[in-house]
Amino acid sequence: MSILAFDIGGTKIRAGLVDGDQVVDPRVVPTEAHLGGRQVMAKLQQIANSYTAYEGIAVAAAGVIKDGVVVSSSALLPGWQGTNITGELADAAGCAVAALGDVHAHGLGEAIYGAGRGFASCLTIGLGTGIGGAFTEGDRVQRGVVGLAGHFGHMTVPDAVAEKLVCSCGHIGHIEPLASGSGLIARYQKATGEKLSGAEIAARAAAGDGVAAKIVFGSARALGVLIGDSVNLLDPGAVVLSGSVVNAGADWWQAVREGYASSVIPVALQTPIVRGELQENAPLIGAAVHYRREHAK
Ligand SMILES: [Zn+2]
Repeated sequence: MSILAFDIGGTKIRAGLVDGDQVVDPRVVPTEAHLGGRQVMAKLQQIANSYTAYEGIAVAAAGVIKDGVVVSSSALLPGWQGTNITGELADAAGCAVAALGDVHAHGLGEAIYGAGRGFASCLTIGLGTGIGGAFTEGDRVQRGVVGLAGHFGHMTVPDAVAEKLVCSCGHIGHIEPLASGSGLIARYQKATGEKLSGAEIAARAAAGDGVAAKIVFGSARALGVLIGDSVNLLDPGAVVLSGSVVNAGADWWQAVREGYASSVIPVALQTPIVRGELQENAPLIGAAVHYRREHAK
């Protein structure tokens, strides 16, 4: 039987029935996060009632999730922190529930059914509005003691520009404000006064706009350096990159590979660095993988 999976983000909630790598009857509703965590949970129950014939519920949620509880969340989801996702949903829906962070779920999805399939372990990095990551071994994602493991965006890069950028976590010097989609947009706007989309900035970089090229390719190289450092630490079978930023073009990928080669220990130079395949379905599919693992016994 399928698993009903949710992906709770700051702006929308996606739901669907998951069977392996298939997502059937997907639905999207606005999160309306400003109404608070209570309201989000009420929506989940309402959506769950509208589906039939599922075995249990798998949740991928924004924030740091530990034992089914939101232990930390950003200001995007007011009142979300402290929410007992699995406890409340299990009581309301009368079935088993498993929950994990959306970035961890994304990584599990790509590792088992996406670009990481076939590899014993996988480092997945999501490059969108922010930057997140997950390290998986088989169907187990490394979550850490407080649920924080994989926060790739909050690693420090040796970059004079990054040293002046304040990260969403409050620290300076992290890769996220340097190389994320929102970071690229903000940096280009600061340098030129023009507010363009990430795709437009990438197109300008490819066309030879010096400012755009420096921002896009410079950050890609810094990202590659950190990927090399991470491979030195974790030695995964593959590195999977996903999110809007990976569409920045061949030169962006080349800059990532150059940065990687400059920091990785040469024995791991051939570790594949590949593009994610599951897009927006990855967190739903990965949450279901996590559910199966939690409720296998
Ligand atoms: Zn940070």
